[in-house]
Amino acid sequence: MELKDMKVFIDPGHGGSDPGATAGTTQEKNITLYVAKKLQSILSSWGVPTKMTRTGDTFVDTTEIAGISNNWGADIFVSIHCNAGGGNGGTETFTKRSYTDLDNDLAKRIQSRLVTAFDSINRGVKRTNWNVLVGNNACCCLTELLFMDVSTDISKLRDSEKLDSAALAIANGLNSYVFANFHNV
Ligand SMILES: [Zn+2]
Repeated sequence: MELKDMKVFIDPGHGGSDPGATAGTTQEKNITLYVAKKLQSILSSWGVPTKMTRTGDTFVDTTEIAGISNNWGADIFVSIHCNAGGGNGGTETFTKRSYTDLDNDLAKRIQSRLVTAFDSINRGVKRTNWNVLVGNNACCCLTELLFMDVSTDISKLRDSEKLDSAALAIANGLNSYVFANFHNV
């Protein structure tokens, strides 16, 4: 199987009445949507079926998102967020606490490529039980691109070329994950 044989669900964090983290006029919800749309555009150009939690500035309850992805029959789920409150900043990617080897592999591949794309501090792959991952049937992860409240990080989050390269990094991570694990399936 190839990536185009997989259904990829993209979850841009926050939206509508929930801006997520903010830095002046910069809002997390807009950065996550920008990267998600770019990622969707790259995957579509590769022939990969995708679905997004939202395509505009709307709010979707986080307790419903895993179910929406499950109902669509997603094979892979990626939630995109920006971090805050982390001291030196950097990039980190989460799997659910009940992660499988595949969840872990997906997270590692996306994490390493984002660190390269952003030239950021590598905070590694971590575990969490956030709503969008718990009960999610897809191979799933949640990535925190960079920190909204760290000056070196926010300048990258305000740079559309950096965000474009982050979207490509996630797409390449997905492609690498499928090639490594499903090449002979
Ligand atoms: Zn967030």
